[in-house]
Amino acid sequence: MPFFDFRCQQCGQQFEKKVSNAEKSSVRCPECGGSDVKQMISSFFTASTSSGAAPPPSCYGGCEGCAQGKPGGNLV
Ligand SMILES: [Zn+2]
Repeated sequence: MPFFDFRCQQCGQQFEKKVSNAEKSSVRCPECGGSDVKQMISSFFTASTSSGAAPPPSCYGGCEGCAQGKPGGNLV
């Protein structure tokens, strides 16, 4: 289950929460309890939308996802 970044529209509090797709619409602000929260786009989420587990071939060593499975620098 992925983490999502949210921002409260009422008090400006930003927070991270682990929710399912179904729960995203019912997230409450932990600071003021308001339900007017907006989901922010996190880098993790955008990087893994299209290709799933495998990073795009164009970003060797260029992103945080690649840092974990970096092929030793010999791959051109
Ligand atoms: Zn709030």
